[in-house]
Amino acid sequence: MKCAYCSTEIKKGTGTMFVYNTGLIKYYCSSRCFKNDVQMKRKFNKKETKERKHETQKQKAQ
Ligand SMILES: [Zn+2]
Repeated sequence: MKCAYCSTEIKKGTGTMFVYNTGLIKYYCSSRCFKNDVQMKRKFNKKETKERKHETQKQKAQ
C-alpha cells in the first residue's frame, strides 16, 4: 500500500492507519504525513514539484 499523503510505499507493520467517520481508511508512512494530511489540511503537490524542475532545466538550457 502507499502513503495517502506522499505516495511512498509502506511496508506491512509500519506506518499509520486512520479511519474516518465516513468509513474511509487511509494509510500514512509516518505520523508526519498523517498530521500534514489530516490536521494541516495540506496536500502533496506533485505538479508543483514537476513545474519547478522544468523551470530549472529551462534556466540551464539558456
Ligand atoms: Zn508519507
